[in-house]
Amino acid sequence: MRILVLEESKSTRNLLRTRLERAGYTVDTADNGHQGFQRATANVYDVILSNIAMPHWDGFKFIEAIQVVAPHLPIMVIVPASGDHAVRARLHQYPSVLGILAEPFDFDALLKRLAAVPRQTHASVNKKAKIVCTIGPSSNTPEILGKMILAGMDVARLNFSHGSHATHEAALAAVREAEKAWEKPIAVLQDLCGPKIRTGPMQGGAVQLSAGKVLAIQADPVEGTAQRFSTITPEILADLLTGDPVLLDDGLLELRVLREGAREVLCEVVVGGILKSGKGINLPQTDLSLPGITAKDWQDLDWGLNHSVDYLALSFVRSAEDIRRIKQAVAAAGKRHLKVVAKIEKPEAVRNIREIVEAADAVMIARGDMGVELPAARVPRIQERIIQLCWELNTPVITATQMLDSMTVNARPTRAEVTDVSMAIKEGTDAVMLSQETATGADPVNVVRTMASIICEEERHARPSAEHFRELEKDAAVYPALSAVAQFGAASAILLLDPDGTLYPLLSKWNRKAPILLVTGSLHVARHASLYHSIFPLIIKDKLDRADMVLRSLTMAREGGYIHADESIAVVEGPRITRRGIRQMASVQVIRMERE
Ligand code: PGA
Ligand code: MN
Repeated sequence: MRILVLEESKSTRNLLRTRLERAGYTVDTADNGHQGFQRATANVYDVILSNIAMPHWDGFKFIEAIQVVAPHLPIMVIVPASGDHAVRARLHQYPSVLGILAEPFDFDALLKRLAAVPRQTHASVNKKAKIVCTIGPSSNTPEILGKMILAGMDVARLNFSHGSHATHEAALAAVREAEKAWEKPIAVLQDLCGPKIRTGPMQGGAVQLSAGKVLAIQADPVEGTAQRFSTITPEILADLLTGDPVLLDDGLLELRVLREGAREVLCEVVVGGILKSGKGINLPQTDLSLPGITAKDWQDLDWGLNHSVDYLALSFVRSAEDIRRIKQAVAAAGKRHLKVVAKIEKPEAVRNIREIVEAADAVMIARGDMGVELPAARVPRIQERIIQLCWELNTPVITATQMLDSMTVNARPTRAEVTDVSMAIKEGTDAVMLSQETATGADPVNVVRTMASIICEEERHARPSAEHFRELEKDAAVYPALSAVAQFGAASAILLLDPDGTLYPLLSKWNRKAPILLVTGSLHVARHASLYHSIFPLIIKDKLDRADMVLRSLTMAREGGYIHADESIAVVEGPRITRRGIRQMASVQVIRMERE
């Protein structure tokens, strides 16, 4: 049985350790709430023994945090002898508080309580793949976002298909507040909707379309009925040819064009159903003259340039040129910290995939629209290929859409969904994404926790494939230290000194065996890095010489629960000129952590 002791006084801590070890427990100790929380979530313990008086961190905050991440983990709380009733009453409200002991307590009574605790099997949030969460009405408060961060959220997505600049502004502020409160860098991804075609408003919000009936799609705005409705992008009507399929609401409904016309197109309903206002229209066989970046996108982009956004995603990318145009606008505004994500959802994008991945800073496999624009049966294979290609080109990749869709309403995922998340991790995706599950779902925190546990379980069994090492050989000559480390299996963690953030994208792909602790002074680098597999940023703003930097990082890593006594750590550094003027190409140093 493993027990974590959180006690501020060193002498009490040692006393507890000795006596618990004598009673047969494996004991870890930590000395304040934040450090203890990191330990508790980066390792599996059966029980926590915690002193509520934590000078550096509120003890209640600690219990609340554990409640989110590991709700089944029992906590034995030690309170001061003079502990008042209010403290006890508050403690009793937490279901995971197993018991309360007043100092000085009877040790035998403690052992008796502990003996009744069952062995834990909870999955910790010590995952290496990342989670992107879409923020919406269910999740846009600092409190919920804080819990989502604790449960494993790494990137917050603001979806500009919905909401106004005012609602996104509020959501962004809430993300930044939660990020600060929990001291974990979070990347914000602004998702531009691109030339997404939608239906106009429907009478009463929804109308019923029946197969075999004929209806008109018209350019002039109208309250939609079963006979006619409008679209927010009337330009598409002129592009539609007789016989073209018109797919509605992610392909749930289907029409076919009977008669062409720039102002009005007549269609037959092939597959009927309920059509709601503002649902997506996909035209997989129509050559569209719509620009790849719309007027709304440029306005939204302008918003992004003036807010603290880290990634800008463009939907319905067709060619590398779409990405280059966005990048030019970003460069012209002098925002070199804003990275561009290509959303792959069009057949053209799948055809031009290599040049698009080369032009973009990151890639999203947008399976929702992809499965409508292309036969859905092809999506799994395309997903696998894109993940492979991103591996080759050292580009981070997000697998998106419907991953835990049923959890928008249900408390448990379907088995098929669990397997889907697990497969994407096995294929080597950097990140997995949640859309409506966290934006409008019933319990966003539960969804993130569920996703984290699936990732943890898959990663416990992961083996790097032969392809990974083949790729590595190509780059070994350029980055000898990185390749040495990637093949050095014994390290429990890699400490990467990478102040400009140029090496971590490579190491993220090459080494997936051990966590990579990225030491940087830049909050921008730290936030970007939070999308990358296996990368955990440690921000050190002070200018320290190399030895002090290593020492400081090791202390932080130890406090963070990433490294432990008796483990080996590889310290890696890229090219630099040393203080004595030696031109270093790379260096690797293997060190052993001493006991406290
Ligand atoms: P969306 O993109 O949610 O903005 O449509 C993702 C997808 O199409 O899968
Ligand atoms: Mn899409």
